[in-house]
Amino acid sequence: MNSTGKEKKEKTATGKILSVEGDLRKTIKGLLKKLLKNNTLDAVLVPMKAPETESYAWVLLEDETLLDAADPLPPVMTVQGGRALDSITKQGDVYLKIGALMRPCEIRAAVELYKLNQVKLEHIHLISIDCPGALPLKEYMDNPIKSKENFEKIVQKGDKNEALRPVCQICQHFSLLSSPSTEETKASSSPDTENHSAADLHIGFFGGNGKKLCLTASTSKGKDLLEKLELSQDDSLEYWKAAGEKIRQSALKNRESFNKEWQEKIGGIENFTTALDACINCHNCMRVCPVCYCQQCYFDSKILENSPETYLQRAQERGSLRFPLDTLLFHLGRMSHMVLSCVSCGACEDACPMSVPVSQIFSMVGDQTQKSFQYVPGTDRNVPLPLQSFLKDEFCEVEIPCECDQSLLGKA
Ligand code: SF4
Ligand code: SF4
Ligand code: SF4
Repeated sequence: MNSTGKEKKEKTATGKILSVEGDLRKTIKGLLKKLLKNNTLDAVLVPMKAPETESYAWVLLEDETLLDAADPLPPVMTVQGGRALDSITKQGDVYLKIGALMRPCEIRAAVELYKLNQVKLEHIHLISIDCPGALPLKEYMDNPIKSKENFEKIVQKGDKNEALRPVCQICQHFSLLSSPSTEETKASSSPDTENHSAADLHIGFFGGNGKKLCLTASTSKGKDLLEKLELSQDDSLEYWKAAGEKIRQSALKNRESFNKEWQEKIGGIENFTTALDACINCHNCMRVCPVCYCQQCYFDSKILENSPETYLQRAQERGSLRFPLDTLLFHLGRMSHMVLSCVSCGACEDACPMSVPVSQIFSMVGDQTQKSFQYVPGTDRNVPLPLQSFLKDEFCEVEIPCECDQSLLGKA
């Protein structure tokens, strides 16, 4: 468990308020263009609709004119941004200054990968944006035009509605200031949050009624970006903070009932097995998950392959043998590896061909497990992963007896 014993103080939100020029997306792209043009950034990583299709991809570009085709607020998450960043920096640090514009859950995944030494952030400027959520990929692909119209209404209103993916309806980390409450982070925030928060710069538009947006920097890299844009950070952003807090409270309420519902649905081995019954063991959920970090996956290895005789023997012992094998083992194994870092992004569920509610299950289990460690994945770069650090006095209740609980020693 990570413990500093220091609580975060409620800070007054300040930043720069800008008028929206034309539309929100255009204004955001204008800022990125300026950063490319004045050589503050060498390249940007942004989502873009693939030409001639309705799908979206991540694009790394240096030419600011190409930004016209980018979409900072795509209606779907086809590829998790943390994974895109991982592809760029996996083999080593990049020496170009790259600005990566991503949703908060994508930034959080990138930060988790950074802690695992799988994303290098030295030259990356993480720019997060208020996230209206994302639509379920399958529903979007069935009717992209109608889905986009619906999504625009969600962006304009800034409220989470039932058209969004289930994990987006319960997401409380959709903005910078909506990130962890004091209670959540009292044990998992570094004493000095400067240079350690998730994003370097955040773009907020909630509460601005489509007429204004705000920029707020939380690290020296972010402040540098603001300086190069010739923007100060003196405006009060209390209007934005209040709008975000309203959405956050509603998301927290949704999350509470969601967790309760899923605890009942998957409680006990039978229910858990039933919830995963439709799984065909294709491993798509694992491949798209940004924080499924093992370089060599045990479940893709030959260790699980057996001889025909072994399968026949197992079939005889049990009466019959269901294929594909070991689906439960796969989910439990994956869960035990990465659930502390699960950022509840929904990418796994979008990728599932069998509509298994895999991200809802992982989000609920992640939430509970992360609470045990008072760990909020991806919100502070300086807080080590719970299983990378060891404190003598943690979880003493599961050791019998231990020196940190003298009362147990007396009873033993
Ligand atoms: S989980 Fe959904 S609402 Fe939350 S940051 Fe990710 S896409 Fe946005
Ligand atoms: S398990 Fe699913 S919801 Fe969690 S981080 Fe991976 S892809 Fe996202
Ligand atoms: S949960 Fe879905 S994506 Fe994951 S292995 Fe099963 S069928 Fe494939």
